[in-house]
Amino acid sequence: MDFALNADQQAIREAVGQTVARFDDDYWLERDREGGFPEDFYRAMADAGWLGIAMPAEYGGAGLGIQEAALMMETVSASGAGLSGASAIHMNVFGLHPVVVHGSAAQKERWLPPIIRGDHKACFGVTEPNTGLNTLKLRTLARRQGDRYVVNGQKIWISTAQVASKILLLARTTPLEEVSEPTRGLSLFYTDLDRSRISVREIEKMGRKAVDSNELFIDGLEVPVADRIGEEGMGFSYILHGLNPERVLLAAEATGLGRAALRRAVGYAAERVVFDRPIGKNQGVQHPLAERWVDLEAAELLYRRAAWLYDQGKPCAAEANAAKFFCAEAGFRACETAVLTHGGMGYAKEYHVERYLREAMLPRIAPVSPQLILCHIAEKVLGLPKSY
Ligand SMILES: Cc1cc2nc3c(=O)[nH]c(=O)nc-3n(C[C@H](O)[C@H](O)[C@H](O)COP(=O)(O)OP(=O)(O)OC[C@H]3O[C@@H](n4cnc5c(N)ncnc54)[C@H](O)[C@@H]3O)c2cc1C
Repeated sequence: MDFALNADQQAIREAVGQTVARFDDDYWLERDREGGFPEDFYRAMADAGWLGIAMPAEYGGAGLGIQEAALMMETVSASGAGLSGASAIHMNVFGLHPVVVHGSAAQKERWLPPIIRGDHKACFGVTEPNTGLNTLKLRTLARRQGDRYVVNGQKIWISTAQVASKILLLARTTPLEEVSEPTRGLSLFYTDLDRSRISVREIEKMGRKAVDSNELFIDGLEVPVADRIGEEGMGFSYILHGLNPERVLLAAEATGLGRAALRRAVGYAAERVVFDRPIGKNQGVQHPLAERWVDLEAAELLYRRAAWLYDQGKPCAAEANAAKFFCAEAGFRACETAVLTHGGMGYAKEYHVERYLREAMLPRIAPVSPQLILCHIAEKVLGLPKSY
């Protein structure tokens, strides 16, 4: 068993670190205050070739695995970019996986190079206001009319829809009552985000202001049949393929955010003098920080194992879910401890840790909640009855 990063992985960590070092905590603090997509960061990552890290080499990607992509996302997040930086590029890095696996040669040629170069931004439209985590009940309807589909419906929480030109859209092509199995009848499209047919309303939210999330009202969106990925009715199975690696990337991002918080907390504990001694000289301050370090080490091992399994083509649903669950909680705990270590200053924006804490809620909630992960593990690993 070899836990060391190989030479390429170490080089990736260093080189990504250099690219993101240009965007310091003050940059992200300003993005958090003002909002607005971090275009210069996105461009820097694209120009350095990082967006295509896990994309096929024949379309301009680096053809590497989820292990390398996760390492990159942890490095981005740990730089202080947190979820704002990671979410700005998340869709480019892995969102088009269903196209890689199920798209035709013509679709890959058309769609992959621009997303790898960063010329296209895409959003992912799954969640709906009335169905929540019960994806099989999605209602947005795509009705076939000749060589196109006409789509009507509503989506919610769709990130980057303010700036995206494309949308990866999951919609129902057969009414639920008419499908042979509940997993059938949903189709996956990758198409233009036509703002004359989709109205996009930003949701004011707790953190990650730089990367917008939105309600989408879709009214008569025309989607050419050529923009459907794979077979009609099989969309749910196509997105399932991408769920495990997506969970691994989120796990890595949460771990990175925890590391950023821990770094700041340790720095503050070493410098802040109260009762004539650095606060970090007290065990009551040291021990929570040391515990958070242990958490984050365990978190890294979990997500790296899940990534390794995925890259080996082995089943990894339990491990990817466990990584997403544990890393999100470990990241959150580290951010909470960082705020508490700073005392009153933990609540001040200029010390950055309150921003991290707000962002740390996100990997706990999305793309799947902790409860649903535990339901999955209880059922699939422990053999208990399905509870939902
Ligand atoms: C900032 C942000 C960005 C997002 N970006 C995107 C995006 O780009 N694209 C996209 O499609 N979605 C996106 N989402 C949506 C996200 O994936 C969902 O919010 C998440 O999956 C939870 O779904 P829900 O909000 O509908 O919760 P609900 O399904 O309403 O659930 C609410 C709560 O009830 C719990 N619950 C429900 N049923 C059960 C049960 N049977 N047993 C136990 N607990 C249960 C859930 O675990 C959860 O805690 C984003 C969300 C956020 C907050």
